[in-house]
Amino acid sequence: MTSDNEKYFTEEEETRIDKAFKELLEGYLGSKHRKKAELIEKAFRFAKHAHHGIRRRSGEPYILHPIEVARIVSQEIGLGSTSICAALLHDVVEDTEYTVEDIEQHFGKKIAQLVDGLTKISGGIFGDKASEQAENFRKLLLTMSEDIRVIIIKMADRLHNMRTLGSMAPNKQFKIAGETLYIYAPLAHRLGLFAIKTELEDLSFKYEHPVTYEEIERKIAQTAQKRNDVYTNFAEPIAKKLEEAGIKFDAKARLKSVYSIWKKMENKKIPFEEVYDLYAMRIIFDCDDISKEKAICWNIYSIITDLYRVHPERTRDWIVTPKANGYQALHLTVMGPDGNWIEVQIRSKRMDEIAEKGFAAHWKYKIGDTDEENELSDWLRTIQDILENPEPNAIDFLDTLKLNLFASEIVVFTPKGELITMPKGSSVLDVAFELHTELGCKCIAGKVNHKLVPLSYKLNSGDQIEVLTSQSQTPKAEWMEYLVTAKGKTRLKSALKKEQQPIINKGREIFEKFLSDNNLTEESLNNDVITKIFGYFHVDNREKLFSALGDGSVIIDDNAPKMLRHAIKKSEKGLFSRIFRLKRDDDSSVDHSVDSLKNKEEWKRIDPKKDYELKIDENGPNFILASCCSPIPGDETLGFIKNSGDVEVHSISCPKAMALKASYGPRIVTTVWNVTGGSYLVNVRIEGIDRHGILQELTSMISSHLGLDIRKLDIEANEEVFHANLAVRVANADTVNSLCARIKKIDGVKVATRIQ
Ligand code: MN
Repeated sequence: MTSDNEKYFTEEEETRIDKAFKELLEGYLGSKHRKKAELIEKAFRFAKHAHHGIRRRSGEPYILHPIEVARIVSQEIGLGSTSICAALLHDVVEDTEYTVEDIEQHFGKKIAQLVDGLTKISGGIFGDKASEQAENFRKLLLTMSEDIRVIIIKMADRLHNMRTLGSMAPNKQFKIAGETLYIYAPLAHRLGLFAIKTELEDLSFKYEHPVTYEEIERKIAQTAQKRNDVYTNFAEPIAKKLEEAGIKFDAKARLKSVYSIWKKMENKKIPFEEVYDLYAMRIIFDCDDISKEKAICWNIYSIITDLYRVHPERTRDWIVTPKANGYQALHLTVMGPDGNWIEVQIRSKRMDEIAEKGFAAHWKYKIGDTDEENELSDWLRTIQDILENPEPNAIDFLDTLKLNLFASEIVVFTPKGELITMPKGSSVLDVAFELHTELGCKCIAGKVNHKLVPLSYKLNSGDQIEVLTSQSQTPKAEWMEYLVTAKGKTRLKSALKKEQQPIINKGREIFEKFLSDNNLTEESLNNDVITKIFGYFHVDNREKLFSALGDGSVIIDDNAPKMLRHAIKKSEKGLFSRIFRLKRDDDSSVDHSVDSLKNKEEWKRIDPKKDYELKIDENGPNFILASCCSPIPGDETLGFIKNSGDVEVHSISCPKAMALKASYGPRIVTTVWNVTGGSYLVNVRIEGIDRHGILQELTSMISSHLGLDIRKLDIEANEEVFHANLAVRVANADTVNSLCARIKKIDGVKVATRIQ
């Protein structure tokens, strides 16, 4: 393998690679972990071979990056061989020909799983849609927490990328820095990786605000001497007293990071000079016995408060109740000799390690000769608990995120690496419908993580999914069971309906033929007649009638024409005579044809140039309401002067009226309503979200509250949506409009509109 590489890298570079790896290995061997040097060396050789000849943007051999990530994982975070190997191999599957299976074959299942997790999240964040996907990505990180090491290694990867960000193009620098500040730094904080969090923040800030960063850095340097003097004056008396008390300790001034200084300046709108708590004093004491730590902390506390005045409200005991991320320490703020408040942090060495390295440090202290896996599982569980149970008071990452909301969500990848958030339990078919109706309808199976699965397959977070389709596939009613998303169900339903269309068309033809055999058209039927027809065929809407006729489940028998004639006669008598006492001399509700031979010249008696006043007197109305658009008083209408001299009133938008206008222009007359009283049947379409009790509210509002006469109310509730068709009698258009407006005010109703 080495001979391959010699072709690409110089002697010098080879030496550098070996040296970097040696440093990694020595650091590991110096830790308390079990010594699995062989496995780590194998991972190194494997990764080196896989990335052979490849360079980073900076020109360095690529392999230096995974080595450095592994070093951070080992030395700065404190993880063991499994994580070190995964870190060494973390870009192999992403960037080279090797697969996860190859990794598993050589390094076992666990390491392969970690590399797989790292590969999956690498696509998401570096993809083009990274920023809009940021929210999804955060969710992904959290839902992936089944092995938190994936996130921690990712953190180390990001840290190294940030440390070497200078070699990236400026626009990329900006983007990566923003992501780091937005996603990784808060997550590092959450995991208790404080040192890494601070460094990520500072590095991001440096690239996002280079000028401000430099300015603050310069001012820190300028004030260093003065600060030093203050610190010495402050710390010396404390150190003396602690020594007298026989406490072994290390004291240092901890300067605030550039980023946190800037944040303070921004938040408080103050200049650098007024940020007085630029540093804190940190006292780290030696103590082998955990049970004595607390007593020593408070001992030191009393020594300090003997010397300086303590701020009464700024003592924080993180020992008895550690922060959720594991942080333990005793904090107090005292008045320094220069009159400024100075924070003092008191910690044992153990607490300090936890503060710097997070939970990884916990188990380091209880290490025996057990396997790394077992040792790890403890603190992995702890971190998982942290992620799942955000501490209520902390103003940080998870509080804004409201993790519990995500327990019901998963995040999956498209083959292009885009992230989709889906409800938990979603199937391949759900994703297909989520992406596109057509994709759902033609779906035959899925490929999840490159393995073939049925379309009912339930997905897990982090799965990469490809939807397989076939042109010959058609949507099936039984698919409803595989769908959990409302979107999927709705889309399948309408697709199934569409499938029905040819049958419906056939049924419509049959019905139209039946009408024309009886000298009728569909438009000429009024609602009462239609209701009779539905009743005869045992259906409750047109669509059901057509599909029943289309698939032959009902047929037009010998009695049908009789029923039809009867219904028409009855409706004329009932409807019109009741309302208008209408006297008819011809069969005008049936005969709408313009070329009626009777009364051929009668129409000439009406002057189309004058407005025609629509009114009802003792002879009944001087107009006929067209059944095609069923206008009512108050509607915008026009009149068509029939051969008989009757004026047929159409709604302005009625398609039939438009056709009449085009062919019989001179016979069109403008109309003016002068009608009071009477009641007219209108249809109102209502749609909304089917919350509990809404339908009851709807019906009682219409019938009792508005005192209207409901003739028919069909309600179809479907999942969370309902559709209703309301037929109601009203006096005029204003009544319908105010009715619709009132219905729309019912919580949950989305649509309430009159249909014609
Ligand atoms: Mn990487």
